[in-house]
Amino acid sequence: MTPRDVLKMIEQKKVQFIDLRFMDFPGLWQHLTLPVSELTLESFNHGFGFDGSSIRGWQAINESDMLLVPVADTARIDPFMQHTTLSMISDVRDPITKKEYSRDPRSIARKAVSFLQKTKIADRAMFGPELEFFIFDYAWYDQGINYAKYQVGSREGIWTRGDEDVTNLGQKIRLKEGYFPCPPIDTMHNIRSEMVSELINLGIPVEAHHHEVATGGQCEIDMRYQDLLKMADNVMIYKYVAKNVAARHGKVATFMPKPLFQDNGSGMHIHFSLWKGDKPLFAGNKYAGLSQLGLWAIGGILKHARALCALCNPTTNSYKRLVPGYEAPVNLVYSSRNRSAAIRIPMYSEKVQTKRIEFRCPDSSCNPYLAFSAMTMAAIDGIQNKIDPGDPLDKDIYRLTSAEYEKLQSAPINLEEALDALENDHDFLLSGDVFTADVIHYWIKYKRENEVEAIRVRPHPYEFCMYFDI
Ligand code: GLN
Ligand code: MG
Ligand code: MG
Ligand code: MG
Repeated sequence: MTPRDVLKMIEQKKVQFIDLRFMDFPGLWQHLTLPVSELTLESFNHGFGFDGSSIRGWQAINESDMLLVPVADTARIDPFMQHTTLSMISDVRDPITKKEYSRDPRSIARKAVSFLQKTKIADRAMFGPELEFFIFDYAWYDQGINYAKYQVGSREGIWTRGDEDVTNLGQKIRLKEGYFPCPPIDTMHNIRSEMVSELINLGIPVEAHHHEVATGGQCEIDMRYQDLLKMADNVMIYKYVAKNVAARHGKVATFMPKPLFQDNGSGMHIHFSLWKGDKPLFAGNKYAGLSQLGLWAIGGILKHARALCALCNPTTNSYKRLVPGYEAPVNLVYSSRNRSAAIRIPMYSEKVQTKRIEFRCPDSSCNPYLAFSAMTMAAIDGIQNKIDPGDPLDKDIYRLTSAEYEKLQSAPINLEEALDALENDHDFLLSGDVFTADVIHYWIKYKRENEVEAIRVRPHPYEFCMYFDI
């Protein structure tokens, strides 16, 4: 879609408002709304001014003026706004230099794509993220905010939360058996179908939706794979649609990685492949149908996995998910079978077009522009330096001898460890100026000061359970 097409669409659909969307540093979509008369052909070059200093993690107050430049190709009629509104994802620029703002995650993603092309390794990186999320009712959400009962570990807590539906008092999902009985046990079916219809209307192809493993209200919708930048945009639209459809039903959708103790968390496994023209570069005749290039890409991702976690699992809550027993990875190994491995090579199909690797650590609290870019950079490093990923681990990880187990590298146990890993290992992200040193430095500082430290100094509800009677 060109700027002229957008103007045509505005007339045809009688659009009243233009809504400009962009991503803040930690990964929440922000918006600025203008009456339609404000948008002209020039707007697509000149953009619209806003105050960048109030955006989390951005400009200092003395240099706060910034521009939002709408990207015509992302224009869509927003299905959730009362007045006819056309939304566009926007790039963020400096009004004086007109250059892209280096902390705008979308500009980092664009640089990652052009760096990949410059290396001549591939011309596109394709991504298929599997976002999982919970749908709760507001009562549960309030309870969560007030430190829900489940936090003291009672089973009873599990049955009083979430998808309590008055029409379904008898048919409930047993613990960890949410994958995936038919309705009426699956009380989220209709709401998911509604989310999928909205996504399809917005031009986002969807392959399937289903209930997930956790006991009640955990959902997954799978979008068809796409190239890096488009998929990062689509992730934001997906989260927006899921949250707004849930709100339409008086419920709340959360992408928090581990809202419930003793049940599965929500991940965002990322399926990843590199392509040249229509040639899938990860398909070959090595282990699990991979090419040598695919194995090196795995080598790069595993080598940098602990640092990657700081971008792919960027919240304190992320590390409550990365524990044994809930299908989330703990060990930094690869395998075609093991779902407890950080990288799995799916074997559903023989077709070379489907050959990809699945990085299972990430969760959807990440900023997808940064996570996809960082993964691409780790894979490029692996390929350029021919990093051998070692042997796959096809045995059941839980049955290894302790000597075997000790040799395995593990994911960081908390955000602090992940940020330390990123601090010590980020040269691979700086190649081609994709991530600037400022972005890495500021990310670490922002997360340490605003999240790690915020949790460290607050009394935890479970401390009341352990220590109140001391
Ligand atoms: N919810 C699991 C996770 O946290 C994944 C479950 C699945 O898709 N098999 O990664
Ligand atoms: Mg899935
Ligand atoms: Mg899943
Ligand atoms: Mg998966």
